[in-house]
Amino acid sequence: MGSNINQIQKITKNSKNKEIKTCDKCKKKAVINLAYGPHKFCEYHFNKFFENRFKKTIRKYKLIKSKEKILIALSGGKDSVTLLHLLNKFYKNSNTFSALIIDEGVKGYRDNAVKVAIDECKQNNVSYTVISFKEEFNITNDKIMPLILKNEKLGGTCAFCGTLRRNIMNKYAKKLNVDKIATGHNLDDEVQSFVMNVFNNDFKRLKRTGAEAGLIEHNGFVKRIKPLYLTPEKEIIAYCAFNNINHYSQACCPYSWTAKRNEYREMLNNFENRFPGTQFSIMRFNEKLKEELSPSEEKKRELKSKMKTCTICGEPTDKLICKTCEMIKTLKKENKTKKENKKNNSKKYNKKLTCYSTKYN
Ligand code: SF4
Repeated sequence: MGSNINQIQKITKNSKNKEIKTCDKCKKKAVINLAYGPHKFCEYHFNKFFENRFKKTIRKYKLIKSKEKILIALSGGKDSVTLLHLLNKFYKNSNTFSALIIDEGVKGYRDNAVKVAIDECKQNNVSYTVISFKEEFNITNDKIMPLILKNEKLGGTCAFCGTLRRNIMNKYAKKLNVDKIATGHNLDDEVQSFVMNVFNNDFKRLKRTGAEAGLIEHNGFVKRIKPLYLTPEKEIIAYCAFNNINHYSQACCPYSWTAKRNEYREMLNNFENRFPGTQFSIMRFNEKLKEELSPSEEKKRELKSKMKTCTICGEPTDKLICKTCEMIKTLKKENKTKKENKKNNSKKYNKKLTCYSTKYN
């Protein structure tokens, strides 16, 4: 645990609060310092604090009802594995859990993470299903990447990847007959998404975010919930270290450097380090704004009435074909019509890699 404690102290170090003294709740030496409080905790009281917030988030946003069947979107990374542990620890007597593991086809990265995810399911006695992009769409991220690098107009790899993943999650949640899908999104993810939506003037997307994602209720969509919505990422790292929770952290997705989100992450981390509590403050603002923006029942009915089913895959959409099928079509066309621009690719691959922890968002 010694090295873990060093790691925790390193991640919770703040310019204004470098000293770690005794726990706020007992006389033991504090091992973690949460600068936004400030809170100083020993390992035991940090775990209590962390777990209580998790349960409070579920109660506050009414995320889980007794007897509901929950499908955990499990990547093998720290967030989704922590989610699996916590749900299993506190809700297994009242609910049924299973896991969906999606293999996007990234050699040397996702295949290893999938192994960890499977191990964790076995350890926690949770049934699981593994679905790959290859079997669902006959494409892998390793194939998509060069196509996108060739043509920036196609957007980002993560945007493609996320859309295909959401499609799989929704489809399999229906096949597996579950009530909800739980994802490992944490506070940092949500704040980054909020700021990104502001910067991109994307009101539509902003309204769809929240502890329970989505704007309209439709029987074609399975509800997605985020029980770690109010939990800072660094505290998840600490919780994993204190509780020896095994998760995949050996490598980053080799395409993560393409994500614009990295810039927002860096900017917000700088703010948080200089002004502790910034992320919670942004989140509170986001919540208030969403209350104000919340569509009327009439508007929700109108949106719902516009929903159709995709003429290709049958998933719900407000267009003729859904975004996933549109993307697959574009990729296939791109694959046929364009030759690889190797020179251009090698220049882009030389960019410095940055790590973006992946989520089933
Ligand atoms: Fe997909 Fe995540 Fe890799 Fe982006 S970082 S390409 S979302 S697996």
